[in-house]
Amino acid sequence: MSTLELLSKKEEGQIITPVKIAIAEGDGIGPEIMKATLKILKEAGAEIEPEFIEVGEKAYLSGQTSGIDDKAWDVIKNNKVILKAPITTPQGKGYKSLNVTLRKTLGLFANVRPVQAYSPFVPTHFPKMDLVIIRENEEDLYAGIEHRQTRDVYQCLKLITRPGSERIIRYAFEYAKVYNRKKVTCMVKDNIMKITDGLFHSVFKEVAKEYPGIESEVQIIDIGSAKLAAQPENYDVIVTSNLYGDIISDIVAEIGGSVGMCGSSNIGKEVAMFEAIHGSAPDIAGKNIANPSGLLNAAISLLAHIGQSEIGDKIKNAWLCTIEQGYHTADIYREEVSRKKVSTEEFTNIIISNL
Ligand code: NAD
Repeated sequence: MSTLELLSKKEEGQIITPVKIAIAEGDGIGPEIMKATLKILKEAGAEIEPEFIEVGEKAYLSGQTSGIDDKAWDVIKNNKVILKAPITTPQGKGYKSLNVTLRKTLGLFANVRPVQAYSPFVPTHFPKMDLVIIRENEEDLYAGIEHRQTRDVYQCLKLITRPGSERIIRYAFEYAKVYNRKKVTCMVKDNIMKITDGLFHSVFKEVAKEYPGIESEVQIIDIGSAKLAAQPENYDVIVTSNLYGDIISDIVAEIGGSVGMCGSSNIGKEVAMFEAIHGSAPDIAGKNIANPSGLLNAAISLLAHIGQSEIGDKIKNAWLCTIEQGYHTADIYREEVSRKKVSTEEFTNIIISNL
């Protein structure tokens, strides 16, 4: 696994600090939450050297029709680690999703999305929720095989491969083993898509046999989603294909408090990219009210990835302390539990004072 590989490189003395990180400020609320995150990392003493790249709307407006230029690709490939704020993707028209392009070009096959409740400080109906969604990140309906057949008929093809399924399912079991998780649930729709989702299901059953100490189960995605929304505490690690994983991770993040709280890691063999799970939130951009927690939690995972988990833990504790003190951005502010509704900047400064 790449995290472990990178860490072993560190043990061999191959990681030189400060570690150069490609930084994409993104669109909408991206620059605000990135500024907040980098300020906290700096104050906490993270040994990183940010190298800014232009991706998304700004790159598009300066003539890069793909939304990313060659210089940015070079920085990413040299540094191998990216912290990326959300990017706006035009809906139904315009350039292809840059997120999908990044994940596919860089071979970021595993999207890891931990979701945890922070009850009672952030109210949720599910105070014991603590699960991780491991989403296949390159295949399925996001493979980009979409075209017009006739004037009125359009087609998008679902691509599921044995190597891709095996890699993500094995990653999920290895993750469960390393992080001492007890159960892996596979979600598929193989009562309908018997061949594609059927393959994912059968590979899951094969791989699960290699991990007798970890409980395994398979659920059909529709009823599985209903159970997940009703009793998320019953889940531990969930492994699923690209589209299902995208949808269920937003659902569980929202029922856990806010979509603004969760970070994610996109892991490949060579490169890893860390980002919030939410989008660029254009409705609140420029208002200094966005919650930077999703990107900050992604940055904490990044620090673990590059062998600086002590600094990551320090930031996590300061962040938790801020949440527990009741200083809440608007998305998680609730009169009954919050002490004060704070701006992005205020939230950032309180975290820093708690370091
Ligand atoms: P969104 O996640 O940007 O926003 C959904 C809702 O959640 C909005 O009301 C928003 O204000 C709120 N929200 C999101 N993040 C928040 C935060 N940090 N703090 C407080 N509130 C927050 O979803 P959307 O509106 O569907 O998408 C906007 C754009 O983002 C689209 O162009 C979409 O394609 C893109 N997008 C990008 C990524 C990415 O870069 N990884 C992921 C998802 C969506």
